[in-house]
Amino acid sequence: RIVLGIESSCDETGVGFVRLSDDGRVELLADAVASSVDEHARFGGVVPEIASRAHLTAMAPTMRRALDESGLALSDVDAVAVTAGPGLAGALMVGVASAKAYASALDVPLYGVNHLGGHVAVDTLEHGPLPERCLALLVSGGHSQLLLVEGVGEKITEIGTTIDDAAGEAYDKVARILDLPYPGGPPIDKQAKLGDPNAIAFPRGLTGPRDAKYDFSFSGLKTAVARYVETEQRAGREISVPDVCASFQEAVADVLTAKAVRAALDLEVGTLVISGGVAANSRLSALARERCAEAGIELRVPRPRLCTDNGAMIAALGAHVLRADAKPSPLDMPANPGLPVDTIVVR
Ligand code: ATP
Ligand code: MG
Ligand code: FE
Repeated sequence: RIVLGIESSCDETGVGFVRLSDDGRVELLADAVASSVDEHARFGGVVPEIASRAHLTAMAPTMRRALDESGLALSDVDAVAVTAGPGLAGALMVGVASAKAYASALDVPLYGVNHLGGHVAVDTLEHGPLPERCLALLVSGGHSQLLLVEGVGEKITEIGTTIDDAAGEAYDKVARILDLPYPGGPPIDKQAKLGDPNAIAFPRGLTGPRDAKYDFSFSGLKTAVARYVETEQRAGREISVPDVCASFQEAVADVLTAKAVRAALDLEVGTLVISGGVAANSRLSALARERCAEAGIELRVPRPRLCTDNGAMIAALGAHVLRADAKPSPLDMPANPGLPVDTIVVR
């Protein structure tokens, strides 16, 4: 069966196609993405109104590209999956309205699915079926969560989250402090390779004995970087951007990997999936590889292109939901900006 996936929760318009085989395997057929990231750059973050408008203009051409890439016709589609939430209200509405139009025109079931579940499901396109239980570390511009996955189309429970900024948000804010371009992840990653990760002792948020074991906090770290830069400049000392980037990046990667590995060991889960835009970070994946190997945990990180927002991940989750034989969503389903992570399909 062929599943169409539509994503529009943030600044990426994504259309993807996957094939669900009878044996339950899910295969990537097309993944077309249009991003409005450049239009947000001068604001240092995503502007909701700009994102919504960009989705409107990008949706039809992105669908065209995905169809061309897959060699499929719309009449081949057996089910439509769309991000119902969480995300920006106006942005979500564009994808949801489009998906309803395709589902009713093609007379196939509609599945309004959870964006966060999509970030986990996408790994099956790259590495094949996931074990019965696994742990997912989802780190992006809007999210930093530890998820216990018991069947990717069936049960996902949040065991930890950020109490303030998301990991990617911290990268973007620190980049701003250092006058590096938006989004901040790639330039900081690049600078960090030239610096000393032990040059500055930045704080590791929520790692005290009384702190919530699996929650994250990155706002203190961002403030510490700002204070460091300010203090140095006021004293007339030149700061080393590579050292600041390397030390900041080390603090983020240290906390994320330590908590993820600890959770995997505590919950006796043998597999860790890292996904979301920040999964592209070179230090995060290197440290995760090291620590997972030490702890005897299998590490799965999808390729960067699949880690950031795309339609294929939504198609993949749709396929897993279809496989679990879930009831479709109603055609009057609303977009839900605050869709809870444990709601995999909207009913
Ligand atoms: P959502 O949170 O809904 O998934 P998003 O668009 O913010 O939406 P992504 O597109 O998955 O999320 O990821 C973008 C984020 O990833 C940005 O904050 C960016 O700075 C960060 N990022 C990208 N590459 C890297 C990298 N190499 N290292 C660290 N962070 C990175
Ligand atoms: Mg994005
Ligand atoms: Fe996302």
